[in-house]
Amino acid sequence: MGVETPGSQSSLHRANLERVVRAVRMAGSLTQAEIARSTGLSAATVSNIVRELKDGGTVDVTPTSSGGRRARSVSLSGDAGIVVGVDFGHTHLRVAIGNLAHRVLAEEAEPLDVDASAAQGLDRAEHLVNTLIAKAGISRDKIVGVGLGVPGPIDVESGVLGSTAILPGWAGTNPRDDLSARLGVPVYVDNDANLGALGELVWGAGRGATDLAYIKVASGVGAGLVIKGQIYRGPGGTAGEIGHITLDESGPVCRCGNRGCLETFTAARYVLPLLHSAHGTDLTVARMVQLAKDGDPGCRRVIVDVGRHIGSGVANLCNLLNPSRVVLGGDLADSGELVLAPIRESVSRYAIPSAARQLEVVPGALGSRAEVLGALALVLSEMGDSTLLDEAPPARTALIV
Ligand SMILES: [Zn+2]
Repeated sequence: MGVETPGSQSSLHRANLERVVRAVRMAGSLTQAEIARSTGLSAATVSNIVRELKDGGTVDVTPTSSGGRRARSVSLSGDAGIVVGVDFGHTHLRVAIGNLAHRVLAEEAEPLDVDASAAQGLDRAEHLVNTLIAKAGISRDKIVGVGLGVPGPIDVESGVLGSTAILPGWAGTNPRDDLSARLGVPVYVDNDANLGALGELVWGAGRGATDLAYIKVASGVGAGLVIKGQIYRGPGGTAGEIGHITLDESGPVCRCGNRGCLETFTAARYVLPLLHSAHGTDLTVARMVQLAKDGDPGCRRVIVDVGRHIGSGVANLCNLLNPSRVVLGGDLADSGELVLAPIRESVSRYAIPSAARQLEVVPGALGSRAEVLGALALVLSEMGDSTLLDEAPPARTALIV
C-alpha cells in the first residue's frame, strides 16, 4: 500500500511506529522498557518513537513505578478513538463503549430472545449503541470500529452465519454488513467463544499468556484458541469445536448427529435435565452452581462429572496444542475448585505429562462480560494503525531504488 521502498529510512521508521502502537494498543498500557522487550526495539529507539507519538497526540505518557523504580507508562490517548462492543448471547444483548486506552466508558445489557430474529436483534443493538453513545457524550466520528459477537459459527471474512441450525432466525443474514450499514462504521465479527478468549486475554485471566484456550460451557460447549497471541480460527472458522470431541461411541445422540460428544456430557441442555426431578425444569447453570455451593449432593456430583469430562477434552487439547493456560468461562466457572479440580485430575490422567506440565487451569475473571470486552478487543486487534498514524503521515523521503 505505501509508496516507500522496503528497507528505506522512512519505511523502517513507519514500521517501528506501527510496532510500538500495536504493542500498546493490545496491552492497554506498557512501560517503555516493556515496549522495548515486546517489540525488540532498543530503549533509545522506543524513547524517540514515544516522544514523537506523544507530540502527535497519539499516546499519553504518565509517570508510574516498575519494580520500585520510576518508569513512564505509555497508553494510547483516550481521545484518539472510541471502540464499541456488541455481544449477542442466545438470551441477551450486551453493549460496551470503550476508548483506545482500554477504559470502558459505558456498558449495558438487556434480556433478548436473540435466536428469534436477526432484524429484531440488530434493531435493539443499534438502539442500545446509539443510547450509550449519547449518554456518554461521545461524538460519532470518534468511533473507529464495532466488534460484534454472535453465539454460533460465523465466517469472519464474509460475515455470513456458518450454521443455520444454531441460530435459525438469522439464516441467510449478514449481521456484520447489516450493523455496519446501520451505524456507518466498520464492523468486525466473531463467535462468542473466540471473543471470550480475546476478552480474557486482553482484560482478564489470560493476561500475560500467549497460548491459551478459553472454554465456555453454556447451552453448548466451545473453545476459543489463542496461539502466539493470535486467535486461531482455521480456514473454515470452526477451530475450537471442542464440544464435538467423541468421548463415547455409544453415548447419547448429540445435536450434531454424532454420538457421545463431549457436549452431551457437559452442556446445560444435556446435564440440567438430570436434576429436573429434584430441582424443577426451570433450573439454570447459575442456580445449579448455587445449590452445589449450599451443599446439594446431586448438584455437586453433576458438576464434578462435568469437570471430569471437560478435563478429557482439555487433555486432548494439551496433546494437540500444548497451551500454557486454560480459562474456564460461563456460569459454571463460578463453582470454582468444585469443577476445576476434576478438570485438572482428568488432564493429568489423560494428557501426555510433558504437554500438561506447565498448564494452569483457572476460572475466567470477567464472568458474563468476557464476550463484550472481547468484542472491544477485536476492534483493537483488527483496526490497523492507519487511523492513528495517517492523520499526520511521517515526511516521506524520495523513493530510493
Ligand atoms: Zn456433537
